[in-house]
Amino acid sequence: MGPRRELKFALESYWSGKSDAAALLEAAAGLRVAHWARQKALGVTNIPSNDFSLYDHVLDTSVMVGAIPEAYGWTGGPVPLDIYFAMARGSQGGDQGTACSHGGHGDNGEARGVPALEMTKWFDTNYHYMVPEFTKGQKFTLASTKPVDEYLEAKALGYETRPVLLGPVSYLKLGKSTDPALDPLSLIADLLPVYVEVLRRLSENGADWVQIDEPCLVLDLDATAHEALRQAYRVFAEALPGLKIMLTTYFGGLGDNLDAALGLPVAGLHLDLVRAPEQLDGVLAKAPQGLVLSLGVLDGRNVWRANLPSLLDRLEPVVARHGPERVEIAPSCSLLHVPIDLDLETGLDPDLKEWLAFSVQKMGELTVLGKALVEGREAVMQELADSAVAASRREASEKVHDRAVAARIASITPELTKRATRFAERARQQRAASNLPPFPTTTIGSFPQTETVRKARAAHAKGAINDADYETFLRKETETAVRWQEEIGLDVLVHGEFERNDMVQYFGEQLSGFAFTKHAWVQSYGSRYVRPPILFGDVSRPRPMTVEWWRYAQSLTEKPMKGMLTGPVTILNWSFVRDDVPRNLACRQIALAIRDEVQDLEAAGAWMIQIDEAALREGLPLRKADWKLYLDWAVESFRIASSGVSDRTQIHTHMCYSEFNDIIDAIAAMDADVISIETSRSKMELLDAFRTFRYPNEIGPGVFDIHSPRVPDAVEMANLLTLARERIADEQLWVNPDCGLKTRKWEEVRPALVNMVAAARQLRLAM
Ligand code: GLN
Ligand code: ZN
Repeated sequence: MGPRRELKFALESYWSGKSDAAALLEAAAGLRVAHWARQKALGVTNIPSNDFSLYDHVLDTSVMVGAIPEAYGWTGGPVPLDIYFAMARGSQGGDQGTACSHGGHGDNGEARGVPALEMTKWFDTNYHYMVPEFTKGQKFTLASTKPVDEYLEAKALGYETRPVLLGPVSYLKLGKSTDPALDPLSLIADLLPVYVEVLRRLSENGADWVQIDEPCLVLDLDATAHEALRQAYRVFAEALPGLKIMLTTYFGGLGDNLDAALGLPVAGLHLDLVRAPEQLDGVLAKAPQGLVLSLGVLDGRNVWRANLPSLLDRLEPVVARHGPERVEIAPSCSLLHVPIDLDLETGLDPDLKEWLAFSVQKMGELTVLGKALVEGREAVMQELADSAVAASRREASEKVHDRAVAARIASITPELTKRATRFAERARQQRAASNLPPFPTTTIGSFPQTETVRKARAAHAKGAINDADYETFLRKETETAVRWQEEIGLDVLVHGEFERNDMVQYFGEQLSGFAFTKHAWVQSYGSRYVRPPILFGDVSRPRPMTVEWWRYAQSLTEKPMKGMLTGPVTILNWSFVRDDVPRNLACRQIALAIRDEVQDLEAAGAWMIQIDEAALREGLPLRKADWKLYLDWAVESFRIASSGVSDRTQIHTHMCYSEFNDIIDAIAAMDADVISIETSRSKMELLDAFRTFRYPNEIGPGVFDIHSPRVPDAVEMANLLTLARERIADEQLWVNPDCGLKTRKWEEVRPALVNMVAAARQLRLAM
């Protein structure tokens, strides 16, 4: 994207018609040149090409192989930019939404022109790719020579690069087919000739090595996938015996795919030794003679500076044993997932800054390691000493280690992790006290973050509006929202979250142990980037975070006002986390801080408190065998946060994603009194999992899609509620939208909520 998000601005200017294609392509080429030059200057010896994308590299692969659904109107020949972007964003350029409103994702462009391809998360990262779509009779053809063009572009500039391709098996596995009878993997034989053609052209133009990414090798694979891998790499080896392939795996260990990977006829294998350091011994023991090993030892998923001498302790014996000509060293994965340049962060605490390394710094570390391995440690003595000093300072720093936090963690008892009374009894007390009608109506928390709200926030951040004026402004917004909710007859109100920039950042900024950057963007999708908080130390809550806002909002109304918090698992999953303590410990620390906030809200008088866990599912490990461990501590953290209240206090939670079948027992174990979920687009079928499980607690299945500007009428919502009533008991059922409303406009929100309240009333009348 460029250190100053140059690509974002070039793209958005092109999309808005302010600049033309030539300007966009020139900006893109400029970035590629700069990236190659930077890597060369930093001493990287194997520089990649075709690692640049205007939008997404999976989409690039679809275009390369001509997997362009008919709707986009491609008739052969070079694929025009407008078709490429139509696949990415829909033909009217509406922004594709994700499963939730986090990060300000916009509409999905639905009902206007051709919709974009579906978008989903790339493995367990926050990067989203465009899902390849295959149909019956799918044909593949070489429709874009981007890999060859960019290889030649680099060559013309004097860089001999290693082109990167997304491997055919991972590519197909990432796709979906429009025909349930068609397994994308069954298309492998048709797909391979296009890959062979690309490889042939690369080879003819002088490439000795090509990197082929098969991250699917760290997943649970069945026999079909293994067979597809064997077939693909056999075809490549036969067609191009002289071309060397570096087969790249990342985001986990090979595990039970080890033999399959080692059996493929490739010249090199890249391993993620950050996520799965333990796999090295097995690979060394079994690697065939001559296989080049690329050791991914620098963390491509996190922002921490490495301890180089201790890495060398691990690497030197491997090099000695395997031979220096057969070892490469690398980041664990693409550096797409970390920010670009730490040097741009002039405002960070200097101690913390000393412990960090972004992409640029990681390439520097790589060069130091390489030198030490080739020329001996003496050649880079100073760099190694600096690295060790930084590591030991971090290890000893009081900014990282807080005794009080450690003591609190040690004092967690089983009682702390569960409500005092079981749900049925709590519900009885809550219903008796609350006086809510059947099918109570509520919303998920945020109201539209209008232009006015965003401008005021920006002005306040710049100092153009003082604290008092900003506060007055936010109070007015809140008051208007509260009055309006009362007016239309919602039963449980929210304050609207106008004071929050982001549901994680807002809390991170008030908790000890988190730091924030100015330029450390990472791509979420297309031209949308996020700046995740950096969790660097023990977490505590110096003072209440939301109580005053809640108190103010509640003072405006007699109706119940929900306290509104982000849960520990979500805060953790949307941050760069510490690598010096296990994730579950960091999560428990956040959980204790949120627990304090929950208790303070209760003490202030709140008796409905929502703790959002939007990102709980997205933290699931890639391998099923690891799920239970994660879910156990994730659920426990939520319970630590939510269990410090009396029976009468109703704990709500909210989850955006829409797949519950395989984790329904964990959802139930969270034991929230009320859970709101995204269901409107699934016609309530998602509730089947809850029914089958006999989920006992209360549920608010979303009755309208917040990703679309469309306003459903009351009948439509009442019909959805009727479908819900076929699946769960009436006293379990709440009425609410799919998610927060911050990305919507008031013109859409107003009628939608009025209709929602009308739908609930219809149901009550018919009881
Ligand atoms: N309370 C948050 C909101 O309403 C929840 C958002 C989310 O789960 N993504 O915006
Ligand atoms: Zn949501």
